Amino acid sequence: MPLICETVTANDLTTLRARRDGCRAADLVELRLDGLVDLDVGGALAGRRQPVIVTCRPQWEGGRFDGSEEERRRFLRAALDAGAEYVDVEWRSDFSELLDVRRGRGIVLSTHDFKAGVPSDLEARVAAMRATGAEIVKVAITASRLADCVPLLDCRRVVDGPLVLVAMGRAGIPTRVLAARFGSCWMYAGDAAPGQLSAERLLNDFRFRSLTGDSAVYGVTGRPLEHTLSPAMHNAAFASLALEAAYVPLEAADADDFMKFAAAVGVVGASITAPFKEELFRRVVTWDPESRRAGAINTVRRHGEGWAGTNTDIAGFLAPLRRRFDVSNTRCAIVGAGGAARAVAIALATEGGHVTVHARDVQKAETVAALVGGRGLALPPPPGSWDLLVNATPVGTFPRVEETPVAAHLLTGGFVCDLVYNPLDTRLLTEARAAGCGTLGGLEMLVAQAVLQCEWWTGQRPSATLLGEAALGALGVPPNGSHTSIDACPRGRVSREASGS
Ligand code: NAP
Repeated sequence: MPLICETVTANDLTTLRARRDGCRAADLVELRLDGLVDLDVGGALAGRRQPVIVTCRPQWEGGRFDGSEEERRRFLRAALDAGAEYVDVEWRSDFSELLDVRRGRGIVLSTHDFKAGVPSDLEARVAAMRATGAEIVKVAITASRLADCVPLLDCRRVVDGPLVLVAMGRAGIPTRVLAARFGSCWMYAGDAAPGQLSAERLLNDFRFRSLTGDSAVYGVTGRPLEHTLSPAMHNAAFASLALEAAYVPLEAADADDFMKFAAAVGVVGASITAPFKEELFRRVVTWDPESRRAGAINTVRRHGEGWAGTNTDIAGFLAPLRRRFDVSNTRCAIVGAGGAARAVAIALATEGGHVTVHARDVQKAETVAALVGGRGLALPPPPGSWDLLVNATPVGTFPRVEETPVAAHLLTGGFVCDLVYNPLDTRLLTEARAAGCGTLGGLEMLVAQAVLQCEWWTGQRPSATLLGEAALGALGVPPNGSHTSIDACPRGRVSREASGS
């Protein structure tokens, strides 16, 4: 079971010590001496409550120490003499004598590559580092794509002994959360490197301590995934169902990138978000009829050597809407012509709505409208032309909350849905209410489609209220009754056909 090592940096010793002592969730603390104006090894170590790794990272390895190598060597030697549990020594430094002080024990021999991509000599380097006798070998690369994580998995096959294998950057986050799968003996936490997660997030959002090398791996793939709420919801669901499973952001460069990573790591299921919903639809080997009609999927799971796909956006969109608006025989205007618009079009047509699709690219609007025999038109939907309007574009999403896809004076219909969930109440919704329309934001759909995903993957239905609270927590919104009374996922709406079962 990997440990958590929290990295602390500071400009002065007093702050460093205070931060060190604040690391209550971590098993060990990395004390970064580089950057201190009053560097004092004894002072940094005195009174520590946890084991530490003393690091004095030079500028040439991405750190802040700008003194001489001789000074740096003296600091690290002093840390060893003062009984520091570990000292970090860069592979590229000329400090081999430090390895001899305790015959390699307590030495973290490290290498950091900030150039994006996998170093061509990765395996040879790891083997050479191991051969030095250092107790721990740490390799940090910078992932330019998800598949850059895969060669780190292979390092474990080349060498024995304790390793820390990490890919920096957002595409490398799986190597942090899935430290056990990647064979790392600990994982660094904090905000000292690109993609690093805080100890609290590792523990609370990703259930780091419950994950082993055999935990089932799920995730969300798309690009970018910076603000995704899916890990918070699905990890809360897995915890409540007592499943040994992890759900990880899988920010991929393209569909191939996701496929390569998923095959190597053994991903068993994933949520699909923009821009991969249509591309991955074409890659799966089986779908349910609604997904096939939409030509877009938002969920995959393993199916033999390939993948089965489904689209829980369809039922997830309808579940909260049905309780507020009767779609049958109404004029429905969808704004946007991407993957979500496809799901909304199928959902509305299934309920008997007459669909028009409006997009800045009229050809795309026509393609989506054709799925349901509707019309594709330019933006904006003309006043008087719709009863229900659905925003299926990201317009109005944080941080550009002042934007709206349809101007206030055009909001003439009866009901407005916004698929945007951050913020919970968009400018579109505020102006629609002022114009006398009923409104529905995107959070309930988000939760409903996630509940259905979890059920499709695991056969178990998590609590919608729990997922709603997890999503609100990730948004930083305190839960309240009105947002979390989300329990309207229709049973059986997601076909199990795709599995062949
Ligand atoms: P997508 O496949 O990337 O499609 C986005 C659509 O919005 C495209 O038609 C795009 O037009 C259009 N668009 C983007 N910026 C625009 C702008 N400034 N003006 C006009 N049109 C614009 O994304 P998606 O998967 O369909 O998702 C769309 C939105 O729905 C996202 O905000 C997503 O977070 C949200 N969503 C919410 C839920 C939920 O559960 N609440 C579920 C799914 C999606 P072009 O093709 O011309 O770029």
